[in-house]
Amino acid sequence: MSKKLVVQKYGGSSVKDSDRVKAVAKRIVSYKTHHQDVVAVVSARGDTTDELESLAFEITNNPPEREMDMLISTGEQISCALLAMAIKELGFDAISFTGGQVGIKTDRIHTKARIITIDARRIRKALTKNKIVIVAGFQGVTRDDEITTLGRGGSDLTAVALAKALNADVCEIYTDVDGIYTTDPRIVTEAKKIHTITFEEMLEMASLGAQVMQARSIEVAKRFNIPIHVRSSYSKEEGTMITKADEHMESIAVRAVTCNKSEAKVTICDVPDKPGVAARIFTEISKAGINVDMIVQNVSRMKTTDISFTVPKVSLNKTLATARHITKTIGGGNILQDDQIARVSIVGAGMRSHYGIAAKMFKALADQKINIEMISTSEISISCIIERKFSDMAVKTLHKTFNLERT
Ligand code: ASP
Ligand code: MG
Repeated sequence: MSKKLVVQKYGGSSVKDSDRVKAVAKRIVSYKTHHQDVVAVVSARGDTTDELESLAFEITNNPPEREMDMLISTGEQISCALLAMAIKELGFDAISFTGGQVGIKTDRIHTKARIITIDARRIRKALTKNKIVIVAGFQGVTRDDEITTLGRGGSDLTAVALAKALNADVCEIYTDVDGIYTTDPRIVTEAKKIHTITFEEMLEMASLGAQVMQARSIEVAKRFNIPIHVRSSYSKEEGTMITKADEHMESIAVRAVTCNKSEAKVTICDVPDKPGVAARIFTEISKAGINVDMIVQNVSRMKTTDISFTVPKVSLNKTLATARHITKTIGGGNILQDDQIARVSIVGAGMRSHYGIAAKMFKALADQKINIEMISTSEISISCIIERKFSDMAVKTLHKTFNLERT
């Protein structure tokens, strides 16, 4: 009988101090005593990555990205070494590895690199020697052995990619909440844990601001159909299964409400309304490495138009500089900015077959006198940009309007 292999990922809060590291070590060892092989991916402890990032900004406003990766990849190295020590302390054999040591090869895009290949031989070899393998999440190396990181939250991606490379039986994501909720329980106390959710719904939620898992990791899980169990490292309870849709799963019109406060809105006023202008603007912006999200172009009546879009707040300054540069060449008026916005969204795969969901959402917000500044939709979600100060109220209202406390 071949042994089961479980890939687990422990987030920063699960290993935030020595007691937690010891608790995680115990959990891992309990799998081993049940004759399972374990590969555990760990994040940096607590807020380490944020702290490392701020260290860089104490030195310079523009940290070179290669050096940034050298810096922020260290957080994971600390936690994986400590976890390996804690496991050995319990009398089991463990070994920690960096991303490079276990053959995680990426492209050269520092701070948001993509995994190209994983050569899992070293892990397999360690497993045959009956070792528990601990891997530093969030990092890899280029073909030239330059250290890269996989974007914030990237340890999830490490775990999913390793689960695929090792053909694992289970991929578990351990966090400090006990699963995926219908909305943030800190905002809505009636929020309910979701038992099973589809990859596409989870992907949509993650891109719309649900903080539980990194969006790219779910994309990869979806592509290779790797079911994921999101659960708490503080309890034994089952969490939420993320799987592919099956016909027995009822498709619910609205499964969850999310809120994202990390974006800012930029408006370029009075740009010429003629072919090629939008292409020009967004080509320049993407060349600057800025990830544009929602885009709205107004109808023009006077041969010029306003174009509004949202970008991550951290990219706001870069965006404004780029926008100013563009308007110099293509023409255009003022550039407005607003970083006091929030995006509230509703998500559900059943939206495809239900009618009137958008109207219901807009009415619920209107009843609370919340003004909608921008709207965007996908097949399975509807988002509204509103004033940030109303975001909690909007989330509560929508959660109630779509009866999510009863799911
Ligand atoms: N430590 C990294 C971060 O905070 C990666 C991760 O936690 O997954 O983004
Ligand atoms: Mg983290």
